[in-house]
Amino acid sequence: MLLTVSTQHKPATDLGYLLHKHPDRFQSFDLSFGRAHVFYPEASEDRCTVSLLLDVDPVGMARGKQRDQSYLLGHYVNDRPYVASSFMSVAISQLFGTAMSGRCKDRPELAATPLPLTARLDVLPVRGGEGFLHRMFEPLGYSVEAARQPLDEQFPEWGDSPYFSVSIHGTKTLSELLTHLYVLIPVFDNEKHYFVGEDELEKLLAKGGGWLAAHPEKQQITRRYLRHRSSLYREALARLVETDEDATTDESPNMAQQEEVLEKTLSLNDQRHGAVIAALRGSGARTVLDLGCGEGKLLRELLQDRQFDQIVGMDVSIRCLEMAQKRLKLDRLPDRQAARLKLIHGSLIYRDKRLEGFDAAAVVEVIEHLDPPRLSAMERVLFEFARPKTIVVTTPNREYNVMWDSLPAGQFRHADHRFEWSRREFQDWASRMADQHGYSIRFLPVGPEDETVGAPTQMGVFEDSGTRAVVGKRDRMTEVQA
Ligand code: SAH
Repeated sequence: MLLTVSTQHKPATDLGYLLHKHPDRFQSFDLSFGRAHVFYPEASEDRCTVSLLLDVDPVGMARGKQRDQSYLLGHYVNDRPYVASSFMSVAISQLFGTAMSGRCKDRPELAATPLPLTARLDVLPVRGGEGFLHRMFEPLGYSVEAARQPLDEQFPEWGDSPYFSVSIHGTKTLSELLTHLYVLIPVFDNEKHYFVGEDELEKLLAKGGGWLAAHPEKQQITRRYLRHRSSLYREALARLVETDEDATTDESPNMAQQEEVLEKTLSLNDQRHGAVIAALRGSGARTVLDLGCGEGKLLRELLQDRQFDQIVGMDVSIRCLEMAQKRLKLDRLPDRQAARLKLIHGSLIYRDKRLEGFDAAAVVEVIEHLDPPRLSAMERVLFEFARPKTIVVTTPNREYNVMWDSLPAGQFRHADHRFEWSRREFQDWASRMADQHGYSIRFLPVGPEDETVGAPTQMGVFEDSGTRAVVGKRDRMTEVQA
C-alpha cells in the first residue's frame, strides 16, 4: 500500500527537512508487521513527492500472534497487505513521528508554516462510501477527489468494492496533515486496529489542537475507534473527546521513576501509604476514593483491609489505570473482591457525580501536579461537590529537598511538579480550605523528621465538622462543569 505526500511550496524539497528523510535516499525500515520504504519519486524546486510504501507481512504476523481459531484462514488471506489501514497509521507515526509532532530542529518555522499539500492514498477501504470521505476531510479544510475501484473489472455485475483511490488537498502544516491521516485512516477502514501504543492515540486525541473535538463527525470517528477497545479504554477515550479542553497531565512512567529513585532510600512511598491508610482507618470510613491513584499501590493496600468495602481509584492517565488494572490483577480477582474495587478515568478538575457520597478520599502526591488555576477548580470539585467526610491530602515538603544530595538546589523532585510547598504554604492552603468548606484540619509529618526542615512529606487530614459554609450561589469557575 502506498501513501504519497506532495507539495509545490518553493523550494519543494523543504519536504525532506520536515520529514527528516533526504530526498536523494531510498530508505527501508523493519516494522513489527512488515517493512516500510521511504523514497522520493520526484524532488525538484517546484514539486516534491515523498512515498511511503508499506509491505505488510500477514503470514509473519499470523504466526506471531495469538490465534483466533474460528477465523484462522482470515489471518493469512486478507486485504491487509493491499490497503491503507491502521498499519499505515503506525508506519506514519514511526517513520514520520517527528514531523507529525510538528518538530523540526533545523527549520522550526517551516514546521509551523501551512504549505500546499496533497496526500494520495491508493486503495483506502472506506466503509460508508464516498460521502463519508467528504464528510471526514472537508470540515478539516481539504478538498477531496475519490475514485471507487470495481470489485473485479472482468465481472462488472459483482458491483463496486469498498476500496477508493483518494487524494486530499489543503494548505496545512505537515504535522496537521499527518495527524489527520493517522487518526482517520483506521476510521475509514473500521476493522480491528493494531496500534503499537494506545497511549499514542490517546495523546493525539487529547492534544491534537482540538480538531477532533470540533469535528462535526466526532461521534462517528470515536465510535469507530472504540468498537474494538476494552471498556476502560472506551470510557476514557469518550471522555477525552467530550472534554474539548485538555487540562490534564499525563504521567509517563519514566517521570514517575525519577521521584521514586530519589525517595527510595527512605521507602518513603511505603511510609506515606502507611500513614494515609492509618488516617483512613481511624476515620471509620468504609467507602473510599483514591484520587490520582496512579499505578494502584495504595489501592492494593486498601483492598487488603476488610474495613473498606467500596474502593474507587480515579486517575487522569489511562496508562496509569491500565497499569493499576494489571498490578491489581483485576480480571483474576474472585468476584467478591473485584466487586469492592472500581477504577475510573476522570480528572480532579471537573465536577464528577461519580465521586459523591463517599466516606473518605485520599489525594496522595497529586495536588502538586496541578497548575495553580486548576488547583482552584480541584478545590471545589473535592471539598464542595464530592465532599467526602474525611479527606487525606499529602504533598512534598519543599524545605526537605536540601536533604537530598542528588537534587540540585531549587529543582523539584519530579519534572511534572508545578509547585512544591513549604510547610507554611501547605498549612495556609489547607487551613483556608478547612475554613471555607467546613472541615477541621490536622497536620502530620510523614518520613524521618529533621529538626530544621521537617519531614519529606506533609499530610493534612480534613474531617467534615458539620459547619459547612453556604456556597453554591457564587459563579462557578468555568472549569468546574456541573
Ligand atoms: N497517588 C499515587 C500517584 C501519585 S503521582 C501514589 O501515591 O503513588 C500523581 C498522579 O496524579 C498521577 O497518576 C497522575 O496521572 C495523577 N493526576 C495528575 N493530574 C490529575 C488530575 N487532574 N486528575 C486526576 N489525576 C491526576
